[in-house]
Amino acid sequence: MAGLYIHIPFCASRCIYCDFFSSTDSSLRGGYVDAVCRELALRRGELGGERVSTVYFGGGTPSTLSAGECDRLFGALSAVVDWSACDEVTFEVNPDDVTPSFVAMLRDTPVNRLSMGVQSFDDSDLAFLRRRHTARAAIEAVNRCLEAGYNNMSIDLIYGLPGQSLDGWQRNLRQAVSLGVPHLSAYSLMYEEHTALWRMRERGEVEECDEETSLSMFERLIDELESHGYEHYEISNFARPGLYARHNTAYWQGVPYLGLGAAAHSYDGRCRRVNPSSLWAYMEAINEGCVAYAEERETSDSLYNERILTSLRTCWGLDMKRLETDFGEERARYCLKQARPHIEAGRLAFTDERLRITRAGLFTSDDIMSDLFWVD
Ligand code: SF4
Repeated sequence: MAGLYIHIPFCASRCIYCDFFSSTDSSLRGGYVDAVCRELALRRGELGGERVSTVYFGGGTPSTLSAGECDRLFGALSAVVDWSACDEVTFEVNPDDVTPSFVAMLRDTPVNRLSMGVQSFDDSDLAFLRRRHTARAAIEAVNRCLEAGYNNMSIDLIYGLPGQSLDGWQRNLRQAVSLGVPHLSAYSLMYEEHTALWRMRERGEVEECDEETSLSMFERLIDELESHGYEHYEISNFARPGLYARHNTAYWQGVPYLGLGAAAHSYDGRCRRVNPSSLWAYMEAINEGCVAYAEERETSDSLYNERILTSLRTCWGLDMKRLETDFGEERARYCLKQARPHIEAGRLAFTDERLRITRAGLFTSDDIMSDLFWVD
């Protein structure tokens, strides 16, 4: 079983908080799509004959692709993916691209799940973040996708904006719930270095939301969604029963994946490969018949730490028996010793041979995980 990720690094404009690798120059898009198709042909052997169980088109903005470009991508993927045995094919979309003709075009592809970057249902939030859509456009876009039969659909929201109130955040959550989307991801606004938002804060033009308000918003998020039947299955992710994101869950479970495109990451269980974060460098290498990725070999320590980090983020927690089998008795004993103070304080629970972060521990989850890391 393996995953396939395809990075589409093109956006119509730049949102102020974004530090993802993407370009607003669409003139290279056609050539880029052809390069991704060639990369797949060059690297399909890295899948080791495993069944591709999930495919994810992320970005950037995959919904900026034309029908012809989608056609070429799916044509190339069909040589590698048995769509009838593929559980989930997710496509990230922006609300303003989701026209009736775009949705109709997607319905003719194997895409069976959409992930929409809504971020807020408040027009002043959207204008501040320099999103291209309005709240009304987002609502129409979600409804259009649901009516077209995309019942497996997710939206992203951001909280902790400067000046955002708890009531404003609650209104966003109620709107999301009332639309009936079965999956929701919510992130607190981050000030990533060198973004426009980061520069605004440096110049004193915006004031960061204080930690107490941000934590209250996180609490409100959990309460509101759980009270409407969503399961909080990962720190930032909520789903109706059974409708969790399989592709991302496979990442957290350490399932190997092949990432195609500029800046895409791949992982085969022992080694991580990172493609160049430059459209030119990426395309030039592919056109010469090679892939210019950087390789990083995992060590037993880094794999152990990765297991702690990814498992504890999810509601399934850390399987201690599997930890012992994979990393030995000494590491498992160390992990439990480090966990003990958090178990006693109620921040971790240890049941059914699994360690899980409790609700009380969610707010300090980074500290808990780093206490369990193996440091030489
Ligand atoms: S649309 Fe997404 S990837 Fe593009 S700039 Fe905005 S946040 Fe970044």
